[in-house]
Formats: sequence, C-alpha cells, structure tokens
Amino acid sequence: MKKISLVIPVYNEEKNIPLITEALEGVFKNLSYEWEIIFVNDGSKDESLNVLQKLSQKKKYIKVLDFSRNFGKEVATSAGCHYAWGDAVITMDADLQHPPESIPQFLSLWESGAEVVYTVRKETQGVGWFKKFSSGLFYWIFNRISDTKSESGTTDFRLMDKKVIEAFRNLPERERMFRGLIDWMGFRRERLEFVAGERKNGVAQYSYGKLLRLALNSFTSFSLFPLRLAGYLGILITIISGSLLFIMLLTRFLDAQVFTPLAIVAVSTMFLIGIVLMCLGLIALYIARIHTEVSGRPLYIIRESLNVAKKK
Ligand code: UDP
Ligand code: MG
Repeated sequence: MKKISLVIPVYNEEKNIPLITEALEGVFKNLSYEWEIIFVNDGSKDESLNVLQKLSQKKKYIKVLDFSRNFGKEVATSAGCHYAWGDAVITMDADLQHPPESIPQFLSLWESGAEVVYTVRKETQGVGWFKKFSSGLFYWIFNRISDTKSESGTTDFRLMDKKVIEAFRNLPERERMFRGLIDWMGFRRERLEFVAGERKNGVAQYSYGKLLRLALNSFTSFSLFPLRLAGYLGILITIISGSLLFIMLLTRFLDAQVFTPLAIVAVSTMFLIGIVLMCLGLIALYIARIHTEVSGRPLYIIRESLNVAKKK
C-alpha cells in the first residue's frame, strides 16, 4: 500500500488540531492508503503541544515535531517535509481553510502521473479587500521581476511526489518561501482549484509585517531585479540631476530669476540623498541574505519529536 504523509504547521491551533485530525480520518477512511500526519508545532503559545502530545499517544499515525521557538510557517512546512517519508506528501494549514475533501482529487491526479499538484484559491471567505489587493499586487510584481513564475492565488495546499520531496531536501536556503521553492524545482505539475473557507478557530497568525517580510524575501530570493533597480535608479538620478543642472545654468545664463540656485541645489541634494539611501537599503537586503546563508546555522531546532522516524 502506498503511503501519504500530511504535513501541517501549527501555531496556536489548540482547537483546530482535533478538528483537522477528524476531518482527515474521515477522508482516509474511504481511501486505500497508508497515511500519517506530521504536525510541526512552531512554538505555539497555547495548549497546542499538549493537545498534540495526547493525540500522538493515542494514535501512532500522528507524528509531532516540536520546535524550540517560532521559526515561521515556511520553515515549519520545510521541516515537516524533511521528516516525511510517504510516497507523496501533502502540505496544508491547520485551520481547515484547506478543505480535506479535495485530497481524493489530489491523489487521483498524482496516480495519473502528476508530481506536483498545486492549488489555486478561487475565493476566500472572510478576507478583506486589503489582503486580496496586497496578495494580487505581490503576484503581479513577483511574476514581472522573477524567472520563476507563480500563479496568483496559489497556496501551500499542495501534493508533492517523493521525488520532489527528495530534491527539496537538498535545498539549503534559509530565508525561504516554501511555495516558491517548489515552483522553482519544476516537475510535472497539475492544477486544482478550491474555495477557501473561513479559518475555524483562533486568528490568522500571518500579520501584515510577516507577510511583507515574506514578500521581500521572495523578491530577493527569486529575482535579482531589485539589485539591478539600484543601478537603474542611479542612471535615472544622473539624468535628472544633470538636466536640473543644465536648466539651472541656462536660466543663470539667460539672467532669468526663476529658481534661486541655492533652492535647486538644496532640493536636488535632498532628492539624491533619498535615492541613495533607498539603493543602500536594497543592497543591504542582499547582503543580509548572504550573511544569513553564510552563517550556516541550522534551519530549525527540534526540542522533541514524537512517533517520528529518524532523519535519513
Ligand atoms: N503558522 C505557523 N507559524 C506561524 C504562523 C502560522 O506554523 O508563525 C501556521 C498556522 O498554524 C496555520 C498556517 O500556518 O496552520 C497558516 O496560518 P494562518 O491561517 O495564520 O495564515 P493565512 O490563512 O492567513 O495564510
Ligand atoms: Mg489560515
């Protein structure tokens, strides 16, 4: 019998853990697969770990990786994949926004040859216009500046064949975007659509700050455009300040008192300082990346693992 591993990152989901476990049991009852759930407790502050410990004692197919602190969803999902030894791995959220009922469709696409099944969110119930707008903007920019294309509305609700997961284990990046890395790897891909419901319990943990950081990380890890942008801005500034200087000299020469030279110099200097700072900031983003990659710290630290086979 083929084995399916489900990877679920958990951050403050005490109420949702039993619900998603039950929902998955319902789905797999009707399927002839061996299966396991790998919950990665990403430093939850509520009773999630307790709930997981109890569940894993009762049910041997429930495995738990307990992080020593919050490392973020991308890292938690990655860790789950490092410890997942199924023939296929499905990643999904704990809050039931990713409908377990879609899993049979995933599996039939996989059985007919797909190596990655990715999903596109049709509409998300209970999501405000700002989140929709910012997510749309993110994909618009991402696809324009990076070589890896990512469809708007794709989610972390995915199936990956064992081959993909094996390749994934060799990706050493630290500041990572799970989805982006899977898209980057290629493989035979199939698409599925689903309607995301509202999160069942608790609040969405992805603050705008975290989302912005994720967006910046994905821009810098999949595209060198921001780095080149500094150069483009440099050219632009040279042209603008050059023209200003030219106009300034011309008005002086024609003896017209349109701008005082001092005003022009002051304004253009301020403008220049702003731009230079922006460029420095952009370059700093990349240097920060080099710094974190080079420091070679482990991606995560596991305090304790339950029912989990040793990493190969
Ligand atoms: N999550 C996590 N670490 C975090 C934030 C979230 O493991 O720092 C998990 C969370 O428990 C859930 C999934 O990532 O299973 C998606 O989180 P959330 O529902 O907050 O995000 P959204 O639905 O807005 O994408
Ligand atoms: Mg959610």
